[in-house]
Amino acid sequence: MNIDVCIVGAGAAGLMAAISSAQSGAKTVVVDSNPNPGRKLLKTGGGRCNITHAHSVDEFLNTCQPYSRFLRHCTHEFSPESLCDFFKAKGIALTTQEDGCVFPASNRASDILRVLVDTAKQGGVEFIGNCKIDAIEKKDTFFLLRSESKEIVAKTVVIATGGKSFSSTGSRGDGYKFAASFGHKIIPPKACLVRLISSDDWLQGKLSGVSLKDVEISFKLNNKKQSLRGAMVFTSNGIGGPVVLNVSREIVDELTSGSVELFIDTLVNFDENLLREEVVNRIRSNPKRELAGIFTGLLPKSLAVVICQLATRKKTLIANQLDKSSRNRLITLLKRLPISIINTRDIEEATVTRGGVSIKEINSKTMQSKIVDSLFFAGEVIDVDGPCGGYNLQIAFSTGMLAGSSAGQKSRSFEGNV
Ligand SMILES: Cc1cc2nc3c(=O)[nH]c(=O)nc-3n(C[C@H](O)[C@H](O)[C@H](O)COP(=O)(O)OP(=O)(O)OC[C@H]3O[C@@H](n4cnc5c(N)ncnc54)[C@H](O)[C@@H]3O)c2cc1C
Repeated sequence: MNIDVCIVGAGAAGLMAAISSAQSGAKTVVVDSNPNPGRKLLKTGGGRCNITHAHSVDEFLNTCQPYSRFLRHCTHEFSPESLCDFFKAKGIALTTQEDGCVFPASNRASDILRVLVDTAKQGGVEFIGNCKIDAIEKKDTFFLLRSESKEIVAKTVVIATGGKSFSSTGSRGDGYKFAASFGHKIIPPKACLVRLISSDDWLQGKLSGVSLKDVEISFKLNNKKQSLRGAMVFTSNGIGGPVVLNVSREIVDELTSGSVELFIDTLVNFDENLLREEVVNRIRSNPKRELAGIFTGLLPKSLAVVICQLATRKKTLIANQLDKSSRNRLITLLKRLPISIINTRDIEEATVTRGGVSIKEINSKTMQSKIVDSLFFAGEVIDVDGPCGGYNLQIAFSTGMLAGSSAGQKSRSFEGNV
């Protein structure tokens, strides 16, 4: 086979790499272990596919710390705006939510996938499904890719095999093995954008499913206070929900050396003084009510019960029996409910993988390996990640676009056939 560019992995990154590689005139093949491309893409955004975030390049990069330096070039080359223009030009109407998340107006990830696959095919890209690559070797000036049923020879290779979560989608971390076999350093993969596990007795099984629409979670990292705001849900042994996933991204590295203390402000619309007044008024109007009952309309009952128990150290208490020190404890707990986080849930259920091929060994101007000539990387296999909100797909699309065009151009500079 006379292949210029072989892309391993037909996810968001691999498909975009295929499109840009073919556009550069290179004979391009994409292989995937699944029969069809884009299995994970179809799951994104709950099937709606949050393709990007409506940001300027600078805002985007600023949000993707600490990887902004590495992502600078590819994001300038293919920005959130260029990505939206790309899909609009293919007839996909987009809608931007108030929070900046961009979705196809149809709310169907399958529309995004269809455009990617059709555009690649129209550009002459060949797709080979059911082809799990087991090894990639460099032979002089070409690569040999081995699968159970075939061997593929190509001038350049783009590894776009994704991370290590939701392995049923095909992302099993194979790319790390390939990269390591070429001498690349792999930053150990960890779960990121994932639910968190707590060791605290008070939430074991007691609050599972209880959700709060708007909380602020604060924590200290390197002696610097940070806080994030959004919706959360209690799980059987910890916490989840959008703001928690983003908190997980901030503390995942810290968790490797011990537990992390989080503080939840359960009533963000009250400052402490206002809340104290509110509690006093509610007790005055409901003196004989059970204490937890006075929070009707403010907090879910089961959470109010747990917080009241923590504050009063009693199973139940009549509202007007609350003494001053318990009342102060109650106010503090409502505004700073401490939760000790000991771990993340398993990487299998993480939205993205933290870690992967070290960015120190990838040229950010081309996505080419600094160790092996003509080997390129794209997408989640690289040690980059962003928060929830379309950042990770944009990273996959931007790195994919750059890796594909660089690999295409590189292969076109070779003389003769492989
Ligand atoms: C449930 C869920 C929802 C998400 N929602 C969003 C969202 O709305 N917005 C957002 O920005 N991000 C979202 N993400 C994250 C986003 O999906 C990923 O970051 C992105 O898809 C990564 O793209 P990729 O192309 O690098 O990898 P993948 O999409 O994982 O693609 C890798 C491909 O490589 C193939 N492959 C792997 N190994 C081999 C091999 N040895 N041989 C052949 N093929 C192989 C796999 O089969 C797979 O098709 C979500 C993730 C999950 C799990």
